[in-house]
Amino acid sequence: MKIAKEFHWEMGHRLPEHFGLCKNIHGHSYKMIVEFEGDLNKDQMVIDYYDVEKIINSLLQELDHSFMVNKNDKVVLEFLEKMNSKKVVVDFDATAENICKFMLNRISNTKLPDNIKSVKVRIYETQFDYAEDSLKLS
Ligand SMILES: [Zn+2]
Repeated sequence: MKIAKEFHWEMGHRLPEHFGLCKNIHGHSYKMIVEFEGDLNKDQMVIDYYDVEKIINSLLQELDHSFMVNKNDKVVLEFLEKMNSKKVVVDFDATAENICKFMLNRISNTKLPDNIKSVKVRIYETQFDYAEDSLKLS
């Protein structure tokens, strides 16, 4: 059985090496769908939506209205530090694919109930495009 929940947050980013508009400082209203697959627990649930919200919202608090910056993007990193602006420093470029992997790892590394067998994350950068990946839990 699978259950899923949708989340939203605002975040800035840029892709320094991009040939086009994405090299500019800009942001997106990100949408994320998190899906959990597993057997039903004693309450006849895969996982309580309330618990999903608790897990994900604490991760999203970190990201919401922040700027996701690659630690190698020195110009922007210095600028954000001077501004004392909210930032998430990562070791990758903030593509939808990398944000997807990042969220998938973060979610899988939280304490999840034993009945959960796999997690799937889909990140929408705009309403027209998304990146998706999944991870089997051992
Ligand atoms: Zn963008």
